[in-house]
Amino acid sequence: MIPSPAVPRPLHSPVSHGHGDFRAKLHSFKLTNDPICACDRKPETAKHILRFFPRTRRARQKLKQVLWEEDVPWPPGNGAFLRTKRTYDALVTFAREALTNQTDR
Ligand SMILES: [Zn+2]
Repeated sequence: MIPSPAVPRPLHSPVSHGHGDFRAKLHSFKLTNDPICACDRKPETAKHILRFFPRTRRARQKLKQVLWEEDVPWPPGNGAFLRTKRTYDALVTFAREALTNQTDR
């Protein structure tokens, strides 16, 4: 048996590209029966995690603060996180916190 290497997931891709291991996406691939988020019965999409999910509220506050300081409006439009190095780094930090806070999934 060959052990599989521990490959870290790319932390920036789920939110920025709209493909995370979120329920709505998994549901579209028929990998889960329920596309709905546990928190509020809304479809659990990257947009939901980024803008509304209660467990990412604190991470979202930090992200919004950086965007505000960089003159990027909320909610972020296309390319908003690519505006500056800081906005990109803030999104990476948000995604890392969102992905490591999955205790209710
Ligand atoms: Zn939810």
